[in-house]
Parts: sequence; C-alpha cells; structure tokens
Amino acid sequence: MNLETSLATRFAADYRSARAKFLAAAALAGGALKSYANPLKGPEGEELATDTAWFGPAEAAKVLVTVSATHGVEGFCGSGAQIDWLLGPATAALPPATALLFVHAINPHGFAWLRRVTEEGCDLNRNFVDFAKPLPENAGYDELADALVPPALAGPVFEAAMKRLEDSRARHGEREFSIARSGGQYRHPGGTFYGGTAPTWARRTLAAVIADHRLAARALVAVVDYHTGLGPFGYGEPISGDEPGSPAHRRSKAWFGPSLTEPTLGTSSSVPKQGMAELEWHRTLGERVSYVALEYGTYPSNTSGQKALREDHWLHNYSNVDWAAPETRRIKAQIRRHFYPELPDWQEMVLFRSRQILRQALAGLAQG
Ligand SMILES: [Zn+2]
Repeated sequence: MNLETSLATRFAADYRSARAKFLAAAALAGGALKSYANPLKGPEGEELATDTAWFGPAEAAKVLVTVSATHGVEGFCGSGAQIDWLLGPATAALPPATALLFVHAINPHGFAWLRRVTEEGCDLNRNFVDFAKPLPENAGYDELADALVPPALAGPVFEAAMKRLEDSRARHGEREFSIARSGGQYRHPGGTFYGGTAPTWARRTLAAVIADHRLAARALVAVVDYHTGLGPFGYGEPISGDEPGSPAHRRSKAWFGPSLTEPTLGTSSSVPKQGMAELEWHRTLGERVSYVALEYGTYPSNTSGQKALREDHWLHNYSNVDWAAPETRRIKAQIRRHFYPELPDWQEMVLFRSRQILRQALAGLAQG
C-alpha cells in the first residue's frame, strides 16, 4: 500500500475530522452505528459524541471491543488505529459467532479540547471506583499537589515547586514517585490524575454502551483500550488489566504472549493505579472478559509528559482558555505533540502493532 496516502486517510488533525473519518469508515464497512451525544461543545462549537459501530452477528457469543480516547487527547492514536482496521480487514477476518464493537472517542470532550481529562476535570481511567465506599487515599500526591500544578510556570514559585518534585523523586525513587503522582487522587479537583466524586459522563456512557450492546450476555469479550504516553517511542505495550494469575489474565497471556505486561508485578511501563476502566468490564463480565490497555510510547513521560500535563492543568486552573490566544495555542500544541507525535514513522508503528494485537485478539477469541 502507499504508506503516505494511507496514513493521511487514517489519522486526523482534530476531533471533528477524526469523528467524520470514523463514521465514514464504519459506514463503508457496513457497521450498525449509534451515537451518544455529549451535552457540551468543542472549542470551535462542534458537536461532541461517543460513536459506536457494531459489525457481525447481533447475537454473537464473542465480541472484540476497541475503545479510543479514554484519555481525550490520546484519541488521535486510537482513532487512527480503529479507522485503519475498518479500512483494512474490517469484517473479513471475523471468526464465526464473533462481532466487533468499535467505541470511538469515549471522552470526546478531552479529545476535542486537547486534554487528558473529561469535562468534569477527571481522569476517566481513575473514575471507575465505587463512590459509595470511602475513596482511595494518596498521601504522596497530597504532599505534592501544589507543586505538580503550581500557580506559575516561571519564577521563584515555579522553581521551588520543581525542586520539591525533584527532592521527592530522589527520596522515594522513580517508581514510588510515579505511583504517588499518577496512581490516582480524589482530593484535588483541577489536579492531575483526579478521579472525581461521582461517575463522569464518559463513565456513564461506557456503561450505556455495554448495556445497549448486551455485552453482559456474551460468552467471551476482549477489550483493547488505546493509550499513549508511556514506554519507548512508537512501541505498543499490551498492559493487562486483569488480576495476575486469574483466568482472564491467563487467557491474555496465551493470546498476546510474552509482550503482555502487568503493572502490579512491576513488568510494565505503567504502575498500579486506582479506578481504571477494567473494573467496569469485570463488574459486568467477571472472568468472561480479557482487557488490555494498548499503550504506545511517545516522548519521555517524566520530562515532556509532566510538563505537558502541568501546563495544561495550569492553563485550565489559573488562566483563560482562549483558543486563539498564543499561550493557549502553545500549551495545546505541546500536549497534543506529547500524546500524538504525528510523525509518519510513529504512525506506522502504531498501525503495525495495532493490526498485530487485533489479529491476536481475534485468533484468541476463536480458540475460546
Ligand atoms: Zn492513557
């Protein structure tokens, strides 16, 4: 295939064009479409929605689900990978009694506004806790909250904040620091990795998608949830969201082989976190679902990534989000670049690995 042409067909420049490309590709592949309208608008006044497309028998016992934009701005990658499959094998490779459910932009607000969080300011992938129970504590984050999102991006206050972060990292080591910083926190709205106080629109939408497609009644479901920002540049790491040693995890290990990683065992570029989406899938399907986050590396997360998040949260907490203003444009270009390198070699690696993982998942579903 002509690589340059096909990359431009698959990857979009913004949420609005990603949505249009997805809807066109899904219609072309004969999908049954459904839209979940978000009540808010994008920065250019565009409509926001989560769109789903179902392919294959309505009563399929087995379903492969793909999800993009759990973390908003990471959706450039997942959307491109979803469109790639629809323009490529689509339903041709579907085993008997198997269906595909593609969930495009589960967090459309974050995608459109170039944020990792939802319209509620929540990290959707920390929002799946049981809010009827006491919320997880994170003393490490509490201690560093105002240093992680400081009130200024330069000057003595900023420099003191950076020094506190460096001291903490040196004292606790990279892994402990990373767990405190990114594991999830429930006390600092406006902060990074904030899990919220109630289910977000995106969480409620995922629950509606699961119910509307009667996924709880299926014999076996595989979920591939696309992410970016951790690990080596361009490499797609399948991170298991299942309990190590559980039937769901053993199944994933058989499907994806030695490249499957587990944060709780220390084998992943990710660390253990609270309130992730796999909890919702396991609440619905128990051991009948195997879940992976397909995490693509971009630039170093502890420099480029932290700066991109810090400045975006600073912008939304301490400044005006004026889409035309130079400072907003700089910060938004920075976060977009961190979570979506938009280079042909990176895009090609994304598609190669995505095709491999989806093929492995379908082969796995066929085996049982
Ligand atoms: Zn992510």
